[in-house]
Amino acid sequence: MAENKDEYRKPRPAVSALNRPYWDALRRHQLVLQRCGECGMRWYPAAPLCPRCWSRRIEWAPASGRGRVNSWVVFHQSYFRGFDADVPYNVAEVELEEGPRLLTNLIDVGNDEIRAGMEVEVVFDDAAPDLTIAKFRPRRASA
Ligand SMILES: [Zn+2]
Repeated sequence: MAENKDEYRKPRPAVSALNRPYWDALRRHQLVLQRCGECGMRWYPAAPLCPRCWSRRIEWAPASGRGRVNSWVVFHQSYFRGFDADVPYNVAEVELEEGPRLLTNLIDVGNDEIRAGMEVEVVFDDAAPDLTIAKFRPRRASA
């Protein structure tokens, strides 16, 4: 069943002044993370100060988009109508090269082919006219 992208039925992210740069960047097909101007730490989700040194000198900077699967689950039951057509679907925790971990979906891979440590790269899913979601797929060997 083709999904009409003007009628996005899944839960939407809670966009705030704090995390808006992340979601705006995804719409431009860029993955960005906050970076501390004092100690260089990167983190996610967005925070108003560095979780390591408490500095407020924070900037948004591009991430590589590469990471590894740390953990995952496969949902066999739909808890929201918008997911009815996706069951069974995976939800994975991807550890980015920069360190932060994102909850996401893995695409272009069978649920029974997912492995811990699998190398993945970001894919930008334009889910709705005003919403792009970062998903991940297995990284190609040549990359
Ligand atoms: Zn810091």
